[in-house]
Amino acid sequence: MAFELPDLPYAKDALEPHIDAQTMEIHHGKHHAGYTKKLNAAIEGTPEEKKSIEDILTELDPTNTAVRNNGGGFYNHKLFWEVMGPEGGGKPNGEIAEAIDKHFGSYEDFKDQFSKAAAGRFGSGWAWLTVHNGGKLEISSTPNQDNPLMPFVSAAGEPVLALDVWEHAYYLKYQNKRPDYIAAFFNVINWDKVNELYKAHK
Ligand code: MN
Repeated sequence: MAFELPDLPYAKDALEPHIDAQTMEIHHGKHHAGYTKKLNAAIEGTPEEKKSIEDILTELDPTNTAVRNNGGGFYNHKLFWEVMGPEGGGKPNGEIAEAIDKHFGSYEDFKDQFSKAAAGRFGSGWAWLTVHNGGKLEISSTPNQDNPLMPFVSAAGEPVLALDVWEHAYYLKYQNKRPDYIAAFFNVINWDKVNELYKAHK
C-alpha cells in the first residue's frame, strides 16, 4: 500500500510567529508531499510496499539512495510536525524531564547542546534527541534525510525529538540566521508528545 502524506496536526499558521504559515504550507504541501510521492515511486513493486516506514528504515540498505532520501524525508517530517504544537514551548515535564536532567545536567544544558548540534550541522540535515534501550538519551545530528532509525547511522536509536535544519525549513522568515530559527523552535516543542515517545521507546 502506498504511503499517504499525513495531515498537519494543526493549522498551518498555528506556530506563528515562531514558524510562519507560508513556510509551513510549502514545507508540508510541497517538500513533504514530494518525499511521499518519490518514496512511493521508489518502493513500487518491491517487498518494501508491504512494510511499515519504521521497518523500511531500520532494515535499510545504505546504497538504496532513493528510499534512503525519500523514506527518510517521509518519516522525518511526520515526526517533526508531531513534536511541535501551538501549546508547545516551556519546559519538559514528566519522565522526559527527569531523563533530560539525568543525562544533560539540566534543561538549559540540554537546550545548549541540542542547539549546538543543530547549528553545527554543515549544509542540510537534522538534529535529534534519541533514546536507547534502557532509557539513555543522546543528542546527535545527521546529514540530508538520514535519521537515527537507519542502522548505519552512528547515533542509531529511537528519535523522540527532531529539528529540520534544511534551509527550506526557515529561509523565508529567518534567511541565513539559522540560530534564530533554532532558538524559536524551543517555543513550539510539544513536550507531552516527546514524553509519550520517550516512555514508549525507553
Ligand atoms: Mn524539511
